[in-house]
Amino acid sequence: MSDLLRTPERRTCERCGRVEHYEDGVWRADGVGDLYCIHEWDIDGAFVPVKRESTPAAEEC
Ligand SMILES: [Zn+2]
Repeated sequence: MSDLLRTPERRTCERCGRVEHYEDGVWRADGVGDLYCIHEWDIDGAFVPVKRESTPAAEEC
């Protein structure tokens, strides 16, 4: 029996376009997106995508 656990090796934020890859147990950024973005990663499987809601991110000063 092969108990394959699909581990994402690469993820892209659908909101800011940040790209990260998984290496040595941590996510390393390939491309810097918005630092204050609540990243919504374009991966499925082990990670539950955050539901898109209209959050005004830049409303507080
Ligand atoms: Zn993001």
